[in-house]
Amino acid sequence: MPDLIERSLETALTNCCRVGEISIRRIDGGGFIVSHCDDRGRDDLQRFQNPEEAAEIARYDDAGNYRPLKTVPNLCHGWRLELVDLTKLRRALDYFYPGRLAMFAAWKENRLTTTPLRKTLTRQSGMYRVASKISDEQINDLVGNFCRSNGGCLRTILWKRDESAAVPSTKLPSDKFDASHGQALSPRSATPATTAPVIPLLCQEACSLLVAECRKVVKMTNDE
Ligand code: SF4
Repeated sequence: MPDLIERSLETALTNCCRVGEISIRRIDGGGFIVSHCDDRGRDDLQRFQNPEEAAEIARYDDAGNYRPLKTVPNLCHGWRLELVDLTKLRRALDYFYPGRLAMFAAWKENRLTTTPLRKTLTRQSGMYRVASKISDEQINDLVGNFCRSNGGCLRTILWKRDESAAVPSTKLPSDKFDASHGQALSPRSATPATTAPVIPLLCQEACSLLVAECRKVVKMTNDE
């Protein structure tokens, strides 16, 4: 029996055919064809049929560089994954975008909790403890650059800067904080593909890479 995550995915697929940089196409018999959205229409793609192969596809970008954060818009091109059912589609999407379908299902059920950035920073220990000393102005600049959809990260930010509920950066468009508005943008696309509905990749709290960047900013300020 499909669980909550599969059910929310199935419902979303009634009017969505995209998540992040991935295009999803239904085929006869209940299966799905998944590919990079830039590759739709290409007939020279390398074919895969096992959802576990998504992990390898997602590991490196086109230039062969490791992708530490899977929601950075640098998914490699040239592949096509043929999946026989919804369960296998869900498994593959979990490799492409770990944990994102679970966040989406929780958000749909109004059960998704978020953590303000300052709370995430004050929880840090060891060498990352200093990250909490970052100023609001530095957060504004850093998040505006590091999390931007165009070349930064395709997640939609749901966390606030602090308990005052201030947006983390005034340098990002309001869509970046709107869960009903996915950040479907490909580096090969000149403009965001926002006309078609997408399953949003939700960011419920700052990732470890952003925390590391906060630390870097503080260290640089202290060294000046
Ligand atoms: S904090 Fe969220 S939006 Fe920003 S880079 Fe990390 S995962 Fe992406």
